[in-house]
Amino acid sequence: MSEKKQSTEATIAELFAKNRNWANAILKEDETFFQRLSQQQNPDYLWIGCSDSRVPANEILGMLPGDVFVHRNVANVVVHTDLNCLSVMQFAVDVLKVRHIIVTGHYGCGGVKAAVERQKFGLIDNWLRHIQDVQQKHSSCLQSLEGGSALVDRMCELNVIEQVVNVSQSTVVQDAWARGQELSIHGFIYSIHDGLLRDLHMSASSSEEVHACYQVALAAVKERVERRCGELDSGC
Ligand code: ZN
Repeated sequence: MSEKKQSTEATIAELFAKNRNWANAILKEDETFFQRLSQQQNPDYLWIGCSDSRVPANEILGMLPGDVFVHRNVANVVVHTDLNCLSVMQFAVDVLKVRHIIVTGHYGCGGVKAAVERQKFGLIDNWLRHIQDVQQKHSSCLQSLEGGSALVDRMCELNVIEQVVNVSQSTVVQDAWARGQELSIHGFIYSIHDGLLRDLHMSASSSEEVHACYQVALAAVKERVERRCGELDSGC
């Protein structure tokens, strides 16, 4: 057997060992946990976040399996024609009846950085074009920033704000609100530096509320641009 194959098998064996340890640790706390969970899932939250390995939904929220329905893609983008994301939203809202949809971005997002810096990676450049559209839309707000981490930080925030608007405009959310279903949408941003979520105050339970909080959230970003802030709540 080649050395490479041996090391691959050892790595995969390690995954199974870690999984057994994890399941045993949960059973130690609650011996009927998996038995109960196998009957049904009843999450209150849909998390739409980045695929980045440092931003895992359940761990950040301190939640166990069964508590949060999750969709992740590069740079937490909600595109009106993305059937994958829309199907997750539709199932979450119509069938699971989640009460909250949370779009969570994160500072230092590689996808946002690549889009802002016009880096070329191939196929994914087309996906990241949606973030460049956000940048273009807010070019007057961002124009005093010449680049660097302040620009990426503000773009990570603006991207979340715009994706919350996209969620609100989806037929899934519009239909839910039209029939009076209790459903709120939110925009958060996570810092890899301290493990904490920040509220971008982009929370709404109706189209009218989306419009109102959008203006407030944008004004707050503009203020952070003017004050040359870094990450929200980190001394600015
Ligand atoms: Zn990211």
